[in-house]
Amino acid sequence: MNYTIAALPGDGIGPEIMESGLSLLETIGKKFKHDFNVTVYPFGGAGIDETGDPIPPQTIKGCQEADAILLAAIGGPKWEKAEKTPEDGLLQLRKTLGLFSNIRPIAVSDSIAHLSPLKTERVKGTDFVVVRELTGGLYFGQPKMWNDEEATDTLYYKKSEIEQIVRQAFDIAMTRKKKLTSVDKANVLASSKLWRKTVNEIATEYPEVTVEHLYVDAASMKIIQHPTAFDVIVTENMFGDILSDEASVITGSLGMLPSGSHSKKGPSLYEPIHGSAPDIAGQNIANPMSMILSVVMMLRQSFHLYEEADALEKAANDAMDAGFLTADLGGDTKTTEFTAAVQANLAE
Ligand code: ATP
Repeated sequence: MNYTIAALPGDGIGPEIMESGLSLLETIGKKFKHDFNVTVYPFGGAGIDETGDPIPPQTIKGCQEADAILLAAIGGPKWEKAEKTPEDGLLQLRKTLGLFSNIRPIAVSDSIAHLSPLKTERVKGTDFVVVRELTGGLYFGQPKMWNDEEATDTLYYKKSEIEQIVRQAFDIAMTRKKKLTSVDKANVLASSKLWRKTVNEIATEYPEVTVEHLYVDAASMKIIQHPTAFDVIVTENMFGDILSDEASVITGSLGMLPSGSHSKKGPSLYEPIHGSAPDIAGQNIANPMSMILSVVMMLRQSFHLYEEADALEKAANDAMDAGFLTADLGGDTKTTEFTAAVQANLAE
């Protein structure tokens, strides 16, 4: 098969980890006889340097026409005062592509369970997904204003927006352990009452899925106390923002975590959850796992290439189990050495 991919390496450690992800994608293509046609576009600070715009028109066009988009990381002190910042470019890209959901898998492999700030026995076996609504809720609702005396944000959801994200979460649960946790604050918030009602209605379409409702305060405690209890968590924009960041620290390093953002139709975007880490850029010490696992997500969710995704994921996990660990995980493996170790596992 033929697949067109727009690659946005961006800034900081972005180009280093993108190189790792793309070289492994090429190996998967050769091994399983697929053509992954990758075009690299300027984006973020790199876009500003090259064209004066963090999201130049050719980048938007390339992304819209691609089957999937891989983004590494953007931003850095150099562009903080730019008229249009790299982060503005990212918001514009998400909006243009209509990306309404953000999906973050949180998994702790045995080889790094001891690096978690939580007790090893508590986190071993953690494997859940946070499905966050990305285009509604408090961040976008109108009216929104503030002055020195008063301020307003609006938490507004249309039923159709809730249905869209909740259905996606049920679909994901069907491919996993068939357990869905819906997080809201239905004892206080009107929007949460509609959220909960909608979840219960859609649940009737998925009789195999076990549904639980948790208030966001209880959910935030349970993620720390009993992270292995979750399979799929679905929640609105701001709760999802906070809970997915809380969940990410369980794994011990930001450098391990990918994410995928999806639209109704059109290409999905896959990216590490971390930023461009300017403090370690250009030193060949960044952990490329977050990018490699973003490629794994793309293979699975956009291309339905499950065997290929499993092979790459296993090769990367085996490299970590064999002791190839980058500095963030307490090792001294370089970015390129880790990539080579994964390549070697794929060649076996
Ligand atoms: P942003 O606000 O853009 O998300 P941030 O300020 O949260 O960024 P990050 O760029 O995500 O910061 O990085 C935070 C720290 O985590 C970095 O200073 C870096 O040391 C570490 N880090 C992030 N990603 C990686 C990685 N892939 N490999 C190793 N260390 C990383």
